[in-house]
Amino acid sequence: MREKNQLKRNRTAKRFIIAKKPLYYPGTNRIVCPYCGNDEDFFELAENVTITTRYIQNEDGSFTPVADDTQVFGEIKFNCGKCGADLTKYHKHFLEMLF
Ligand SMILES: [Zn+2]
Repeated sequence: MREKNQLKRNRTAKRFIIAKKPLYYPGTNRIVCPYCGNDEDFFELAENVTITTRYIQNEDGSFTPVADDTQVFGEIKFNCGKCGADLTKYHKHFLEMLF
């Protein structure tokens, strides 16, 4: 009876080790490209972008930009920076983690 209990406990311990992921930063959920494994290099691609830049004309006739406004009308894509795979499904996560 005692032997059986010990065996059960060992099995539980083993299962715990398997379930524990070897994360470098425990508690963080990093985006990893499922195609090439890249987890560092990403890019964002915006389609149909209108950039409006306001200028002030100076007395000597030169112009100085004062503000610019970017409006995105198309889709914003999120891609792997190494293999170029479309990772747009992770874009929301990316925005949440953007500081
Ligand atoms: Zn990739």
